[in-house]
Amino acid sequence: MAGDGIGPEITAATLQVLRRASDLFGLGLAFEEHTIGQASLAKRGTTFPPEVLEACRAADGIVLGPVSHADYPPRSEGGINPSGELRIKLDLYANIRPSRSREGLPHWGRTPMDLVIVRENTQGFYADRNMHVGIGEFMPDADTALAVRNVTAKASRRIAVSAFELAGTRRRKKVTAVHKANVLRISDGLFLREVRAVAKDHPGIAYDEQLIDSMTAMLVRDAARYDVVVTTNMFGDILSDEAAELSGSLGLAGSINASDKHCMAQAQHGSAPDIAGKDRANPLSLVLSAAMLLEWMGSRHKNDAFARAHRAIDSAVDTLLKDPARRTGDLGGKLGTRAFTDALCAEMGSGKK
Ligand code: NAD
Repeated sequence: MAGDGIGPEITAATLQVLRRASDLFGLGLAFEEHTIGQASLAKRGTTFPPEVLEACRAADGIVLGPVSHADYPPRSEGGINPSGELRIKLDLYANIRPSRSREGLPHWGRTPMDLVIVRENTQGFYADRNMHVGIGEFMPDADTALAVRNVTAKASRRIAVSAFELAGTRRRKKVTAVHKANVLRISDGLFLREVRAVAKDHPGIAYDEQLIDSMTAMLVRDAARYDVVVTTNMFGDILSDEAAELSGSLGLAGSINASDKHCMAQAQHGSAPDIAGKDRANPLSLVLSAAMLLEWMGSRHKNDAFARAHRAIDSAVDTLLKDPARRTGDLGGKLGTRAFTDALCAEMGSGKK
């Protein structure tokens, strides 16, 4: 699903990379494309037709381009945010967002970093999706607005399990829970209660906690100290953009939304309408998200070729970004989206291992 703004350009780039990975590693990938967003609103009267949801449910993996949902009409007039809808309908509860500095590429933080933010993805303050019926924002009178945040023990526990399993199997065995339980004593208190219980079940993994406000400062000061960071929905959304930018650029941030059965690759950034259609978008956020999707598919189907394809894409990105002449404009380079994607596909062949 290409989405809006720069979505069609970076989705085309991502499919080109996935096709190349499929050829190089014998993955046998087949693709279906579906129209969503503003193009679908114009044709079908909805930004997210119901059959597209069913196609996603039936797929082995999903790639979703960014959408301009801030410009959508209300839901009653067909403006459904495909991103929120898919996360809820497919119960994609774990949003996994790695950020690492790459050799040769300037980073904005004081220290190089390599961390993963594990964000609860189905509840919290996200009013369009956090209620069973109705929405979590309302106005009792014309000058009063209320927003309801929900936190459950079940959702807190399962995101904590995702974080500890990730830390124990593929990371440096450390988890930091980020919260605001000094003020949100009941809701973040419940979140922490569950994370602490999961921490007790994983004695081999170092565990600490950090308040969200000081966390934003600590990331700038010393991001290297963090490995896996687990947090609630909105804190994770904001922190992961900060972490991505500190690692070099928001345009570099891969992200998957996963459950035990489904996985959706989605760029961390938005639809960047200011540069849409100009061949200026950096496709890497969606490309690296798709590479993470391949890794997820490989571990689900016990097929190591998918993990090798993931590593080949990631190391081709490392190689390309070392050379200032082979970067896109947001990273100070001169390549457009298409030329950068061609260079990446060419580099992937030499990265096959
Ligand atoms: P944005 O992330 O789209 O853009 C912020 C800035 O970063 C812009 O200057 C943009 O040009 C630049 N940028 C973003 N991605 C880039 C890329 N790949 N390469 C180069 N530069 C890039 O954020 P925004 O402007 O706040 O939001 C625009 C729209 O996107 C809004 O409608 C918003 O609701 C939507 N949005 C969608 C998602 C999503 O689909 N998951 C996420 C965030 C925002």
